[in-house]
Amino acid sequence: SLSDRLSGVFDKLRGRGALSEADVRAAMREVRVALLEADVALPVAREFVEDVTERAVGEEVVRSVTPGQMVVKIVNDALVELLGAESAELELNTAPPAVIMMVGLQGSGKTTTTAKIAKRLTEKDRKKVMMASLDVARPAAQEQLAVLGEKAGVDTLPIVAGQTPTDIAKRALQAAKLQGYDVLMLDTAGRLHVDTQLMDEMKAVAGASNPTETLLVVDSLTGQDAVNVAKGFGTEVPLTGVVLTRMDGDARGGAALSMRKVTGKPIKFAGTGEGLDALEPFHPDRVAGRILGMGDVVSLVEKAAETVKVEDAEKLAKKMEKGKFDLDDLRLQIKQMKAMGGLGALAKMMPGMKGMKQAGDVDDKALTRLEAMMSSMTAEERQKPKLINAKRKIRIAKGSGTTVQEVNKLLKMHQQMETAMKKLKKMGGFSKLAAMFG
Ligand code: GDP
Ligand code: MG
Repeated sequence: SLSDRLSGVFDKLRGRGALSEADVRAAMREVRVALLEADVALPVAREFVEDVTERAVGEEVVRSVTPGQMVVKIVNDALVELLGAESAELELNTAPPAVIMMVGLQGSGKTTTTAKIAKRLTEKDRKKVMMASLDVARPAAQEQLAVLGEKAGVDTLPIVAGQTPTDIAKRALQAAKLQGYDVLMLDTAGRLHVDTQLMDEMKAVAGASNPTETLLVVDSLTGQDAVNVAKGFGTEVPLTGVVLTRMDGDARGGAALSMRKVTGKPIKFAGTGEGLDALEPFHPDRVAGRILGMGDVVSLVEKAAETVKVEDAEKLAKKMEKGKFDLDDLRLQIKQMKAMGGLGALAKMMPGMKGMKQAGDVDDKALTRLEAMMSSMTAEERQKPKLINAKRKIRIAKGSGTTVQEVNKLLKMHQQMETAMKKLKKMGGFSKLAAMFG
């Protein structure tokens, strides 16, 4: 993956204090190729590489990560920024009904996405939503929306034959006003290509309905074409956001990257399947991870760099290598995990630790209580948890202001972790963990 390639180039620099310009440029050539392979538009890739080079040259290398990891993180951060780090909620603050107009090419997923968003607004935001199909070009397009409305539990405007899209928009607006709907969603007709007729129709509908949101729906699988479509629409109708569909397919993420840059508009949602619940708020960090091919490793490196003392980690790593994991180790872990955002955060970041889900539900306050319990134990008890009998449990609970039940939970959690560590070691995941801390 790209992240491996970048790490490789830079890890030759291990031990140097800062990243030199020549070395950064060499690695950025790899980044450029990888971006183009990921379907990023050439001018966007070029500008991106310039920007990252500027940022990376002279950057101090943090002691606990390698220069390669450092660069991966710089690239990742720049990608996230390019994808739009700001939140991208729907803007519905207006006198009701707020109108959401959906535009895009034929087959991009407009009708499906209309129903998905309507369902989400109804269920999550408790909005009263009406949908109307303005697609008079394709036979049965209006019926398709009506069927999806039934499935989603969302009302649709009754179909009247022979009306123009603008007529339907006006009628929908009128009905939504009279019947007290919060949101009116207009699903428009697409074409195979951007053409003047389509653009005139979109402009007329927008003029008649004054939308608060105009969302461009694009198929992420179409890569560079999607970007050209976005350009075409963007210059004719004022877009407020983009929805990328088919992110469940093998889209390489590059379209998303160019899209944000070309339209200047936030990507608000990602479609992740055909079902009506397959819609997610857009996560720039996930797409950046997809482009770099390394998932959440970046955040782990980031947190490790900030908080984990290398010496402690090495000590722990040595012990774990021998398959040993006592309560002293757990205490150290908890101290580190607290600093790294809690067990849940760690469990989520490490694929091998999924089995720790139960332990991962522990919140920060609970972590503090765990620490208190372990401080109330003797050194011998921490090294040999088996010694902790009923009598000792009462003493530990008293000493830490907790209960015997909580002490039991702690011991159970330690056992689970010990098992998880052993499993992780077996899976070879441990060497990865050690490499990251080393
Ligand atoms: P429209 O012509 O733009 O209205 O597109 P439709 O909403 O009719 O969608 C065309 C096809 O794409 C349908 O079969 C949808 O089920 C499918 N589709 C839409 N969004 C997604 C998505 O996010 N993922 C997948 N896998 N399929 C999708
Ligand atoms: Mg449609």
